Amino acid sequence: MVKVATQLVQGTNGSEDDRSGAVVAPLHFSTAFRHPGLGESTGYDYSRMTTPTRDLLEAQLAKIEHGTQAFAVSSGMAAITLVLSTILKSHDHFITSDNLYGGSFRYFDTLRNQYDIAYETWNGQDIDELVLRIQPNTKAIWIETPSNPTMKVIDIQAVASVVHAIRPDILVIVDNTFLTPIYQNPLTEGADIVVHSATKYLGGHNDILAGAVVVKDATLADALRTQLTTTGQVLDPFDSWLLIRSLKTLAVRMRVHTENAQLLAKRLATLAGVEKVLYAGVGGMISFYLAEAYDVNQFLQALTVGSFAESLGGVETLITVPFVQTHHDMPESQRLGLGITPQLIRLSVGLEDADDLWADLAQAIQKAGRV
Ligand SMILES: *Cc1c(COP(=O)(O)O)cnc(C)c1O
Repeated sequence: MVKVATQLVQGTNGSEDDRSGAVVAPLHFSTAFRHPGLGESTGYDYSRMTTPTRDLLEAQLAKIEHGTQAFAVSSGMAAITLVLSTILKSHDHFITSDNLYGGSFRYFDTLRNQYDIAYETWNGQDIDELVLRIQPNTKAIWIETPSNPTMKVIDIQAVASVVHAIRPDILVIVDNTFLTPIYQNPLTEGADIVVHSATKYLGGHNDILAGAVVVKDATLADALRTQLTTTGQVLDPFDSWLLIRSLKTLAVRMRVHTENAQLLAKRLATLAGVEKVLYAGVGGMISFYLAEAYDVNQFLQALTVGSFAESLGGVETLITVPFVQTHHDMPESQRLGLGITPQLIRLSVGLEDADDLWADLAQAIQKAGRV
């Protein structure tokens, strides 16, 4: 394969079903496909199964994540439910890192309460403690790294090699939304399944809701395909096409997200009013604690460049307070235990000029000082 930036830009162009010579892939809206004859198919029958546009996107997603098969679905949560509803049944057990996207926990609780599927959390750091939690009915390990919102990093390779040495049947699943295949390739590190909220960096423009699942094992791919065809949470042709377009700039976007975030993380760490900065070193996500004497609402009100809004991974800088927004459903004691305090601010650093972003944050923090 060519390098990832080349694959992203050129990998979906010049498709074989278009004789016009267009350098950009066509968009097929058709839900139905003509059959050449009885018992014959072009490979396309009905759009819940697949469409040429979604096919092209899925081939690209599989390539950039180093898998063999990808599934493009209607949201990140659809990707997560596709995976777990395929591989788990009642009385199964799974283990998850303790610092996850809030909606993932909401779904895990649904699995427990409605389907009697148990899960346990693990701190993401001590592999011996992970091994202690493995039970005969454990089917999967769920990892999100860096974690949302406290940016804890988990060693995927260590988890996959230790778990698979003990129990090759346990599936290691990684939510790769934050770093994307530009900075992290879970399948080459030994994971079995990668999921994405493509709403975030893969889409990158705060205008598509989408998700992705990528695997390397053919049997697992068949099981996921059967489940997806049955349940139908596929990505529609237009959003598939938009995502194909968005991916062309992924490598460039991630580079500038990282440059901007590195600069802001460094400067925030020295600013009065900022108690601590959490940053994984790459990617565009930073969290920081405003000092107790600083008013979070005043800080948000004073922002003029970034927006106070949920979501992340887009060209626009977005700022969130996880305690009251993304992680609000978690019991307060659990939030506080994970470091998700009312003073924790999460920053999705966009592609604006870094000096403008810095000046905006610095003035807003200064205004938030309760003096
Ligand atoms: C947003 C997000 C999700 C959920 O994705 P949706 O596209 O909102 O359904 C899952 N995991 C992570 C890490 C996320 O940031």
